Amino acid sequence: MATSSSGPTATCDSCGRVEPAADVEAVHRVYVTPAAWDVEERIEVVDEVERWCFPCRSSYPHQLVGTEAPEL
Ligand SMILES: [Zn+2]
Repeated sequence: MATSSSGPTATCDSCGRVEPAADVEAVHRVYVTPAAWDVEERIEVVDEVERWCFPCRSSYPHQLVGTEAPEL
């Protein structure tokens, strides 16, 4: 009986990794369109809530649910 007692887990909606639930946060995905010669930078925060693991939160722009400013 190799039952582990590592606690609840959660699956990252971005990469599918299974992580301890405490390491997975509810975020809004953020799309950043870089500025070009004819357009200003555009930051679009998606309404839909996803759950992301720490590596995805380190790698991709997102906004934590309940906060005002995106983390790019
Ligand atoms: Zn992930």
